[in-house]
Amino acid sequence: MSEPLGREAAPRPRIEDLERPALDDRSYRIITLPNQLEVLLIHDSKTDKASAALDVNVGSFSDADDMPGIAHAVEHLLFMGTDKYPKENAYNQYLTAHSGHSNAYTASTSTNYYFELAASKHTNSKSSPTASQDASPVSKDDSPLWGALDRFGQFFICPLFLEDTVDREIRAVDSENKKNLQSDTWRLHQLNKALSNPEHPYCHFSTGSWTTLHDDPIARGVKIRDEFIKFHANHYSANRMKLVVLGKESLDTLEGWVDEIFSQIPNKDLPRNRWDEPLVYTEEQLLTQTFAKPVTESRSLEITFRYRDEENYYESHPSRYLSHLIGHEGPGSILAYTKAKGWTNGLGAGGQPLCPGAGLFGISVKLTEDGLKHYKEIIKIIFQYIAMIREKPPQEWVVDEQIRISEVDFRFKQKSPPSRTTSALASVMQKPYDRKMLLSGPAVIRKFDKEAISEAMTYLRPDNFRIVVVDQKFPGDWNAKEKWYGTEYKTEKIPEDFVVEIKHAFEDASRPEELHFPHKNEFIPNRLDVEKKEVENPLKTPKLIRNDSNVRTWWKKDDQFWVPKANVHVYFRTQMPNLTARTNVMTSLFRDLVNDALVEYSYDADISGLIYEFDAQGSGLTVSVEGYNDKLSVLLEKVLLQIRDLEIKDERFNIIRERMMRGYRNWDFGQPFHQVGTYSRWLRNEGGNMTDELLEELETITPQEVRDFFPQVLAQNAIEVLAHGNLYKEEALQVTDLIEKTMRPKRLPPSQWKKRRSLILPPGSNFIYERKLKDPANVNHCIEYSLYFGSSNDRELRAKLLLIAQMTDEPAFNQLRTIEQLGYVVFSGVAFSNMWSGYRILIQSEKDCKYLEGRIDHFLHQFEKTLSEMSEEDFEGHKRAVINRRLEKLKNLTQEGNRFWNHMFADTYDFTQAENDAKSIELLNKPQMIDCFQHYVSPASPHRAKIAVHLVAQAKPKEPTVEERKSHATSALTTILKAENLTAAHEKLESRLSSLPAESLGDSIPSAIAAHLTEDLSLEKEKAEKVLDETKAALGLAETPAVLEAGEKEGKVSENGTKVVYIEDVHGFKAAREMSSAVVAVTNLEEFLEGSAKL
Ligand SMILES: [Zn+2]
Repeated sequence: MSEPLGREAAPRPRIEDLERPALDDRSYRIITLPNQLEVLLIHDSKTDKASAALDVNVGSFSDADDMPGIAHAVEHLLFMGTDKYPKENAYNQYLTAHSGHSNAYTASTSTNYYFELAASKHTNSKSSPTASQDASPVSKDDSPLWGALDRFGQFFICPLFLEDTVDREIRAVDSENKKNLQSDTWRLHQLNKALSNPEHPYCHFSTGSWTTLHDDPIARGVKIRDEFIKFHANHYSANRMKLVVLGKESLDTLEGWVDEIFSQIPNKDLPRNRWDEPLVYTEEQLLTQTFAKPVTESRSLEITFRYRDEENYYESHPSRYLSHLIGHEGPGSILAYTKAKGWTNGLGAGGQPLCPGAGLFGISVKLTEDGLKHYKEIIKIIFQYIAMIREKPPQEWVVDEQIRISEVDFRFKQKSPPSRTTSALASVMQKPYDRKMLLSGPAVIRKFDKEAISEAMTYLRPDNFRIVVVDQKFPGDWNAKEKWYGTEYKTEKIPEDFVVEIKHAFEDASRPEELHFPHKNEFIPNRLDVEKKEVENPLKTPKLIRNDSNVRTWWKKDDQFWVPKANVHVYFRTQMPNLTARTNVMTSLFRDLVNDALVEYSYDADISGLIYEFDAQGSGLTVSVEGYNDKLSVLLEKVLLQIRDLEIKDERFNIIRERMMRGYRNWDFGQPFHQVGTYSRWLRNEGGNMTDELLEELETITPQEVRDFFPQVLAQNAIEVLAHGNLYKEEALQVTDLIEKTMRPKRLPPSQWKKRRSLILPPGSNFIYERKLKDPANVNHCIEYSLYFGSSNDRELRAKLLLIAQMTDEPAFNQLRTIEQLGYVVFSGVAFSNMWSGYRILIQSEKDCKYLEGRIDHFLHQFEKTLSEMSEEDFEGHKRAVINRRLEKLKNLTQEGNRFWNHMFADTYDFTQAENDAKSIELLNKPQMIDCFQHYVSPASPHRAKIAVHLVAQAKPKEPTVEERKSHATSALTTILKAENLTAAHEKLESRLSSLPAESLGDSIPSAIAAHLTEDLSLEKEKAEKVLDETKAALGLAETPAVLEAGEKEGKVSENGTKVVYIEDVHGFKAAREMSSAVVAVTNLEEFLEGSAKL
């Protein structure tokens, strides 16, 4: 549907001269379609990925009061079928087939949808770098982007909100919410919202749950689907949408496509959402103090000021003047002063825009144990500091520094991945930036606006704030519970005498001399020259430019990104940290003490785009410095000196040790799916310690022990350096000299370097390691089911694994998450660590791990069939998708540096691994893959080697009611029938279910469904059985494998004839296994020496 009339009458305005980074070779065009949809088109001739994002100016602030979460639920449901592509997973299948993926999020005032996929139908390996630069018109059939845009666009033109997907998606929303319930970030954020003005939409509960989106509305007699459609009708409109499309095609081609598809989105001329009234915090909520109890052992103090939104101040960003000073960490800062008193560990400050019309300014302080006792004094110090800044007019030199840094950062900004680019820009387009400043506006401060800053400062005053104190024990008399997350808290007006004290601190001109403005920042880079050359084929590996008895230096001068930046990574190899759990913990303490001592010094560098990292690993110590190369060696030298000459003060030691203890204890309260991988890796590799072992040691370590220990770690080690980026060879050698001269370690011969080995699981293994999760309130179990393939040195095996992971990616998600609704977190993929290579499936679920084992086995069986029936074309498509993914272009210097460093640090020096993978995958054929699957993966295979980690939840989820179980059965069945291209007969099923007895639902639901399938729908026996099986699975009524049910003692065997062995003693388990050979370099390193024939 095109409307040539309108276009002929007056040429469409096109904005193309956007301010952009110096090295940005993309071209841009902004247009507005006849339906008032504003579009940004981006042509990138060199991209290997295309992407689009659409942002709608409506979010959870627009939720109806009686249906919290509806905006979010609409985000989920919008993707459930369209007229043109009625198959539910048509969109995702299309994306996966073209190495793509999609995602969406709902924020307070916008909902953002995006996808990314291969930019061309051919694999990267076949297109030469020069051929890819032409931008001639592309036919729709040749571009994966066209098909994706067409599928994506339909969601906004005519979403169907298919009735039978409604319950299921609400369930998905519900499990998303359950995943967040024990997270302190979510809990405390919601508590702040809950305690704001109930008239302002900031107080909304934005995720939604089964109760708010299903049970409650139904109890009120509301038809839920109608509400969703109504919400969409009332809030979605082309004039509220911003679209960004990025592709290889020319701007004209992209414009034509966008016209053709997106002009069809209806325009309802809705106003832009804004909330000037009422206020987020009224007098009632201001000057209150709230005490909240966290799930994990964290301690913090939050001060929030009522502020404003700064949308129209984007040229001066006044709040950044305040956050720069208040959040400063250098000498004179609040943090430096309170840290010296032993009260704080960290501090952040910044403006928080909430919506057009409202904003907050927040200060967040991490407290030590002693800091908690002195939280009132900390508040007074903060007000003293604020008074100090307010005493002076806005300082132009401070803003000048910020302008310099922000301009340099923008000028040398490197490309971010396509979907991050489109999604972020679509959201930026909702803001009133001058269109030519769309790219630069959020980043760059372009002027010193004295009045705007003065005005901003007036918000930070002692009658315009509230505080929250977070701690597990203090004050202990919480008397309220937040409604959605159950966070215990107590809130009250700040006592009058304390308000008086704060006012006094603010007004009294005498204040500690330790508080003062920061010094001039010496780290702002001046030397920004880059010698750019045309390079046809960038080098794929660094060169080895020094290789003597104890030092190796690797170097690569940047030959494709041309930014004045560099990365220097230093590796001090030693086995000392890895000897025992105790040396391991002492090394971590040493690391944290060094980092703690560097906070004040490194802050200026940090805000000037130069960062360092000092870390301790099992195989040694590492130091990385990254950023503008101008002052890189200044920072590196300071870090090395701090490492060498660390002075350990008892007070600081105690603070750091206490923080580390909390960290270890809190780890057990993290999301189960974050924990499970650590257990799996521990079981796969030779050494390693879990947090409980480390914690035990930590309790008794003294400062003197660490003082005695760390010089020994530094005394003897081998040095390896990677210098990469805008650095010449001489500079790389000079940096190496600096490191050597500063640290002067004794030589450590290669025979004494750590060897990395992994366990070898023999064929027929069937191990389970079970562990009870510590959080008593968590209801989610988690399983990681791993299949061992063999050595990661085996390139062909690696290629097969990568291909299996690609082929099972969408089906596993579709089966285990969408159809069976096991839980929000479902992941399948490869596992490579040291010499281990394998395949794994991870599920976090309210269903127990034994049940999940059965579902995974079932899926793998099912996929075996899918694979054998897969067409040659689909098979080749999958190969192409992995190859594309492996050969994805490097986006920036950091990515390239990390790639080299990871291969060095892994000891493999396999710099061209991606290219080798692509070559090996190219050679694979379907019969080989079927063999491989049947051998290593199929649950029927006696050769496969399996180990699973079961993390078991202590709490039980709420029992569903009879009605819930029946409605769940209907929705599950409809989803499954649809996957089989069958339609349900709703009324007949409902009547069968309604007559069931409440007492024995577990048995009677499946028989009612069975009768429905054979009698009402007349399905053939085989089909009926399959559908029934899957429905039972979705209802949690499938069978748990007998072998697990019985436990190993009963002596039952699995279908492949193996017995389950529960690992009781991990040390014993590892001791009884054979170990692999150690990781070694894949090629002779001499080949990388300069002048070697290979380069
Ligand atoms: Zn969601």
